[in-house]
Amino acid sequence: MSHTFADGPAAELSPETLVVSAGRPPREHDAPVNPPIVLTSTFFGTGAPVPGERGYGRYSNPTWDPFEEALAGLEGADQPALVFSSGLAAVMAALSLVPPGGVVVMPRHSYQGSLLLAAGEAENGRFSIRTVDIADTREVIAQLDGASLLWLESPTNPMLEVAEIAVLADAAHAAGALVVVDNTFATPLVTQPLALGADVVVHSVTKYLAGHSDVVLGATVTSGPDLLARLLRYRSLHGAVAGPFEVWLALRGLRTLALRIERSQATAMELARRLQTLPQVDRVRYPGLPDDPGHTRAAAQMNGFGSILCIEVAGGAAAAEKVTEAVNLWLPATSLGGVESLIERRRRQPGEPHTVPEGLLRLSTGIENLEDLWKDLEQALTR
Ligand SMILES: *Cc1c(COP(=O)(O)O)cnc(C)c1O
Repeated sequence: MSHTFADGPAAELSPETLVVSAGRPPREHDAPVNPPIVLTSTFFGTGAPVPGERGYGRYSNPTWDPFEEALAGLEGADQPALVFSSGLAAVMAALSLVPPGGVVVMPRHSYQGSLLLAAGEAENGRFSIRTVDIADTREVIAQLDGASLLWLESPTNPMLEVAEIAVLADAAHAAGALVVVDNTFATPLVTQPLALGADVVVHSVTKYLAGHSDVVLGATVTSGPDLLARLLRYRSLHGAVAGPFEVWLALRGLRTLALRIERSQATAMELARRLQTLPQVDRVRYPGLPDDPGHTRAAAQMNGFGSILCIEVAGGAAAAEKVTEAVNLWLPATSLGGVESLIERRRRQPGEPHTVPEGLLRLSTGIENLEDLWKDLEQALTR
């Protein structure tokens, strides 16, 4: 299989082009323009296995390659990404890089599953955790002493705090810690963590990359061959491998990522502005708003401000819950990053940190018409 992205022409292409052009089969007469789905659990072989050969379906599958190549190109990596069976499987693979007895510094607001998974590992004595306010750069740096890994999410789920990725990555490296960035919310079109100093990028491909709420998948991208080899070994032995059909769907979804993000970011920005004017909304959290605490940082390190916004509904949990029952177009559901707009009161999830306000609604803006989305929200909030 060809991984031609590192020094080939792909390196000069813009991300809007790469999502369309990366991971295509070789240009041979009558070859398909899309990679095929290869359904096989094993590969012909005789004699002693040669390093790098496919061997068996838990080690590799030809359907993974084009997606892994495309994602690496988007993240600016010069080696393939690794696709996993879910975002959390990728999170677990990244956490496997922590040595026994190590220290993990994590944002107190992060994806709930990552927090619960790390807490479970800590309870089993594998490592210890220090949770921090990731927007407080001084506090984070103070907690890095003796750390083995700094976990970053930016913006954080669901509070949308913005971390100073480059400054924190430098400080973490100086302390001898690896830096992992969960880039699910931003996507590589909005933030490129490797260029800001991260060692590993983690994705829930389930969200924006696949983009249609029809698959569960994850991925890692690494800054160097040693980390890639460690994560590849982890994936091969721990077995959280992706089904070929899901990965094929993810590549199909990736083709429209730039268009989807362009639309959903623009809509999220305008919705944030309008929601600020409603008396039924106590607070709008969106880094694109000039008075948002993360605005200056976000403007410096992001290309746009993302497609997630959060509102705190006046009247708390009950009032917020009513909004999710009153919408007709927005879909009340967990998850995010699909073409359809989703709304969720995050504290309905028992595992959500209690520092997240009861009345906070997370809105994942999709690609529907702005006015239709606004009218639906407005009627649900003002009813
Ligand atoms: C959804 C999500 C995950 C977990 O991914 P799954 O594909 O659901 O396993 C991890 N991080 C973030 C930020 C997410 O939104």
